[in-house]
Amino acid sequence: MDTWQKILQKSLTSAKEISEHFDIPLAEVEKIQNEFDIKINPYYLSLIKEKGDPIYKQVVPDLRELEDNGLFSDPLSEDRDSPVKSIVHRYPDRCLFLVSHDCASFCRFCTRKRKVGDPTQINPKFIDEGIEYIEQHPEIRDVIMSGGDPLLLSDDWLKYILHKLRRIPHVEIIRIGTRVPCFLPQRITTKLANILKKFHPIYMNVHFNHPDELTPIAVAALGKLVDAGIPLGCQTVLLKGVNDDPDVMKKLMQKLLLARVRPYYIYQADYVFGTEHFRTRVEKGLEIIQAIRGWTSGLAVPHFVIDSPGGGGKIPLLPEYVVKISDEEVVLRNYQGNIFRYSQAKEGNGKHHKPEILAKQMKENQESPPCFEFDESMMM
Ligand code: SF4
Repeated sequence: MDTWQKILQKSLTSAKEISEHFDIPLAEVEKIQNEFDIKINPYYLSLIKEKGDPIYKQVVPDLRELEDNGLFSDPLSEDRDSPVKSIVHRYPDRCLFLVSHDCASFCRFCTRKRKVGDPTQINPKFIDEGIEYIEQHPEIRDVIMSGGDPLLLSDDWLKYILHKLRRIPHVEIIRIGTRVPCFLPQRITTKLANILKKFHPIYMNVHFNHPDELTPIAVAALGKLVDAGIPLGCQTVLLKGVNDDPDVMKKLMQKLLLARVRPYYIYQADYVFGTEHFRTRVEKGLEIIQAIRGWTSGLAVPHFVIDSPGGGGKIPLLPEYVVKISDEEVVLRNYQGNIFRYSQAKEGNGKHHKPEILAKQMKENQESPPCFEFDESMMM
């Protein structure tokens, strides 16, 4: 048995263990466990510094998970777009392939709470029918392996799936969505990295929500994946009491970049049953983006998105950088809140921007330079 499997075996999973470890009444834990599995592995457990801290909140059950606030078990209507058990096929050229019901710990805010941890919903025995579905749909060029967590499968299972997918001529891209580098970095072995790199192009989206999750061992695991040629993006969920603070998010994004991970999305929390206590107002996400963009490298700025309820897909949200657009000009607000004017291109008469207009504009904004580069090609 590998080290990572031994660590997983020592996870806290029973109501009794959770109750004793965190001093929560046993009856409360049992009630919650009837709705959604609990698992906290010893590595992630070791990151908890005190009761109620951002790491604790992500994995330790809370009675508020049982409150009915009118939210949904399947807020993104994935089941509606699921032609076979292991596939969600919503967008024309890509599909989700659910290959594992298990995770290295269970997040209390999981969007797929209704399925995760339940082998009757997601199971390796449904993998072959998923592969068959992908084979029969030549429009699918991008397969996103998800679950649960695909990297909780054994090396042999992963090899099997990747091999089958790579034999399908129309599958160009394989993506893996995983929280393993955060929850159980020991799983990222050299052997695993060597397996994955045989099936390129493979992309991976990891999931970190707080800077304290980027421990030296997690950073080393991420490095191993990048060294295997796998581009890494990070999906972060905006969670009340965990990361709903511009300074925390900025630090997270900067640390991700240092670990060679490109911040990809910050998700507004979904309408998942039992997660109302994690939801923030949408303005909080906009405030966070405003606090990051311009104040640190553009590479560290993710898209802030709402995965639209009912299955409308991801919709990006931006703070109001465009104040006004007219035929003549665009009025813009920069990251410091200063206003700038950008002259529109003339349409149909062959005339272009006059340099003197731009010069006047630059003079008006002398106190702080305009937020676009003035480039000679604009005068031609
Ligand atoms: S790791 Fe992902 S799939 Fe697993 S519980 Fe957390 S959010 Fe859900």
